[in-house]
Amino acid sequence: MAFQFFKKAFSEKSHIIEATKPASCPYCGIELEKIPIRKTKCKSCNKYYYAKRRPGEEEKRIVTDQEKEAIEREWDEHQFIKKWKPMVGFNDENLSKTAKMMGSKTGVKPSNSEIIWELFLEKEKKTRDSQDLKMLHFKMALFLFEEGKNYEEYLRISHKVDLDRFMDDDYINDVIVHPCELCKGKIKIRMPKKEALEKQILPRCGVHEEGWCMCMYSWEHRR
Ligand SMILES: [Zn+2]
Ligand SMILES: [Zn+2]
Repeated sequence: MAFQFFKKAFSEKSHIIEATKPASCPYCGIELEKIPIRKTKCKSCNKYYYAKRRPGEEEKRIVTDQEKEAIEREWDEHQFIKKWKPMVGFNDENLSKTAKMMGSKTGVKPSNSEIIWELFLEKEKKTRDSQDLKMLHFKMALFLFEEGKNYEEYLRISHKVDLDRFMDDDYINDVIVHPCELCKGKIKIRMPKKEALEKQILPRCGVHEEGWCMCMYSWEHRR
């Protein structure tokens, strides 16, 4: 039984591969002797064609210059989703559901970046544990940074979890700031914990225009 199934699947698959051969020029339709590995000039019409695989497909197809660029954009989008999927913690179903909801609200198809951000906000609403929120807000800050946006607010509330924890600990007196390369010499590195909580100096104001701030809080015991 299993053998029959595999035999069938195999023959169907090889049929698909057969069907794509012989390949032809996407411009003039002339039959090609072989599938090109790289950019190739058609001997008949002198235009360039390419062999490209789309995300989710197994076989390469012979495409025009314009189609090649569209496929490259598809790959960028695919990689973008793949990167943030484990960071936010969503699956394909969440993704399409949120995209559909956003689209019906605004009447415009949302970009992948807008969908990811919405998924972050949905996750934020469901997260209760302060350490989980700290991690989530850190990732949201990182996302904004990579999108070229101001990430300071999200990194600030992520760091605040540490300050709140220090406030609850009677043995902790002072907060120590470990400045990153961007903030060295521009930030006060030691202060009473109460002052640290009032000022919330991490990340330093305006640092998002300089890059990603890696400053960290730590603490010192009462002497
Ligand atoms: Zn041609
Ligand atoms: Zn910094």
